[in-house]
Amino acid sequence: MVKTASILRDLVAIPSVSSLSNVPVVNYALKFLDRWKIERHPYTDPAGTAKLNVVARTRPGIAALALVCHTDTVPFDADWKEAVNPKIRAGKLYGRGSCDVKGFLACVLSAASRIDPERLARPLAVVLTADEEIGCVGAKLLAKKKALRARHTIIGEPTGLAPVRAGKGYALAEIVVRGKEAHSAFPARGRSAIADAARVILALERVSRKLAARRNRAFDPPYTTLNAGVIRGGSAKNIVPGECRITVEWRPVPGQDGRWAAELIGEELAALRKKDPGFQAELEVKRLDPAFAPSRGEALANLLERLSGRRAATVAFGTEAAHLGSPDAETVVFGPGDMTVAHRPGEFVPLGELEQCVTCLVAAIREFCA
Ligand SMILES: [Zn+2]
Repeated sequence: MVKTASILRDLVAIPSVSSLSNVPVVNYALKFLDRWKIERHPYTDPAGTAKLNVVARTRPGIAALALVCHTDTVPFDADWKEAVNPKIRAGKLYGRGSCDVKGFLACVLSAASRIDPERLARPLAVVLTADEEIGCVGAKLLAKKKALRARHTIIGEPTGLAPVRAGKGYALAEIVVRGKEAHSAFPARGRSAIADAARVILALERVSRKLAARRNRAFDPPYTTLNAGVIRGGSAKNIVPGECRITVEWRPVPGQDGRWAAELIGEELAALRKKDPGFQAELEVKRLDPAFAPSRGEALANLLERLSGRRAATVAFGTEAAHLGSPDAETVVFGPGDMTVAHRPGEFVPLGELEQCVTCLVAAIREFCA
């Protein structure tokens, strides 16, 4: 039996930012699954880098329990020396991915090393995915191939060991506002795309208010949020700007079609054009990931609540659950660590939560697969 913290140390020391190949991390993990049936789903990303999804099973058939974990991390600051040189201080392990989500992966591998795969009556699956941090690319490919069928699925993400039963979706769009360039000394000869973009921003505030009026009390905040995160326009101080681009994202609550916000934005743009025929703006939706709606079954969430002592919850961030969950199965997002410390320098996971997570996973395996 290998100590979970030392597995995590090894995992953090293998850089696996999404732009790199995840094959080294997967190969490390497979050493713990040597008597399992391994199904490989390789692909090449748009930059030509080799990526690998893996579905490992203890035996063929629909998995009674599947443990899903992504293998990539977000990038890190070059100044952060511990990013791939993990350090333990005061009961916490620091390093990129320690929390999101190599901590959970270490727990899965540790739990796997504590069971005899041949002695499980029902199939247990471990699913390793690539490119989660850049849009759940690996999970979407597995979903498209219907590579995973499971009755109960635990998707690893830092939830502080609270079983998460629902999550918001994710949508991303760009609004391109077109004006007409002119010498700034003669503004009447052009049309400022930045001034028109200001009208669009005010319209987006109206859309936000409409979205906020539809409540879903299971979430904090209890509605679909919208953010204009990036705006870029103009080329010089003495040119009337000809173009301005606004990047918008929104996070739809379950039960609400992600296209609704896009329709509201579209209506606002059409209204601006009607008032002023010279106004030109187009909305291009680039991503529409569905929300993760609560499963009908509750057996897995109830078990994890009992084992971890944490109440079931919802999350405002997107996960692979929206892609790998299925309506006839129960899906829960669960794992050690706190998402608010992830994706920033100094990311860590408390070692106590690692051990507690392993205990929960071993108990869940016994409950559903023994
Ligand atoms: Zn993650």
